[in-house]
Amino acid sequence: MMDRNQFLFERAQAVIPGGVNSPVRAFRAVGGTPRFVARAQGAYFWDANGKQYVDYIGSWGPMILGHGHPKVVEAVQRAVLEGFSFGAPTEREIELAEAIIKLLPSIEQVRLVSSGTEAGMSAIRLARGFTGRSLMVKFEGCYHGHADALLVKAGSGLATFGHPTSAGVPAEVAQHTLVLPYNDVEALEAAFQTHGDQLATVIIEPIAGNMNFVRASVPFMKRLRELCTQYGALLILDEVMTGFRVGLSCAQGLYAQAIPGFAPDLTVLGKVIGGGMPLAAFGGRRDVMAKLAPLGGVYQAGTLSGNPVATACGLATLQEISQPGFFESLSAKTRSLVQGLKAVADRRGVPFSIDSEGGMFGFFLLPQLPQNYQEVMKTDGPAFNRFFHAMLDQGVYFAPALYEAGFVSAAHTDADIAATLAAAEQAWA
Ligand code: PMP
Repeated sequence: MMDRNQFLFERAQAVIPGGVNSPVRAFRAVGGTPRFVARAQGAYFWDANGKQYVDYIGSWGPMILGHGHPKVVEAVQRAVLEGFSFGAPTEREIELAEAIIKLLPSIEQVRLVSSGTEAGMSAIRLARGFTGRSLMVKFEGCYHGHADALLVKAGSGLATFGHPTSAGVPAEVAQHTLVLPYNDVEALEAAFQTHGDQLATVIIEPIAGNMNFVRASVPFMKRLRELCTQYGALLILDEVMTGFRVGLSCAQGLYAQAIPGFAPDLTVLGKVIGGGMPLAAFGGRRDVMAKLAPLGGVYQAGTLSGNPVATACGLATLQEISQPGFFESLSAKTRSLVQGLKAVADRRGVPFSIDSEGGMFGFFLLPQLPQNYQEVMKTDGPAFNRFFHAMLDQGVYFAPALYEAGFVSAAHTDADIAATLAAAEQAWA
């Protein structure tokens, strides 16, 4: 039989660079042919050959209810009939802003945009405009979208500013970003001591899902909050991935339980708040948000911002995940997946460590959970790739790279998880 995935991949490569519209989809890290998705429903998608997969990516996080949830589909269908886009304000934007603010006490005002990249870029501009400073800190292994200032790796010493990781990013832009190791309190203190007075902002993924799944330790987050306050730098939590995915109060809610009074100055959201439609947001302190145009001098705008179909999709999604018991059930399901995988790995003698929160998980072919990017990258790459393909062949779709997190949706059943564990038994046989 003709492999239609392969056929489509070749056709795509003629007209789309690398055949994909976002690099990780090309399977470069793991090798092989990307699966072209024909359709999806619940916890599954079907590829161009008609093969069914249990989907543990869910569009990289947004599909927390699974694909095609009837209430969300209905809300979107209703919205579509009212119009696709107006470029003028709508009541639904207010409803979504109110829903977000009700769930996240650190957000007093919020602005809607269309992608996480846009939200992160805008939040950083706002922090710079508010503080009147230029320098920023990001952490190695965290991803905040592909804005120029964020495509940066560490310089040669901890106190030196960054170098571009992408062609096309001017060195002058990268020089305003200091890249520090994640979970390293000493490096953080040293950076603030040297540059604290010039720092506009520190941006961090509280649970870093772009190096698989690494939590910021509580002492690290606590010290980070203290230092930002002491030096007048704004703390931005990038919750594009963790927001309404790890729990209804997001990752910041977890840290607020451990650190009395903990709150970021700004939060960046995406993925789940759009339920699979292009929608993201940034928000936080009212005095900071007041610096945004049209009130203040920090410019930010968008033709499709607050899109009426996307906001309908996001609102319906937030409504469903706000039902009592939603996250308890999702967390239990996710835990049963990762603990099950761990049990299989232990039986097969595979070095393995796991973590999860809400509907987000990470597993590592490492004996202990890593604390930073360097430790994540000690994973045996070829062993991960073999496992990935063995699972894929059996109809289980995990992320096609060892540094990506995984996602469980409310549509995944115990039977799906049992089938996944049986596939892992085979993969490691
Ligand atoms: N921040 C984080 C934490 C992300 O995981 C991502 C995307 N995976 C982004 C920002 C960028 O979002 P988008 O892809 O919607 O631009």
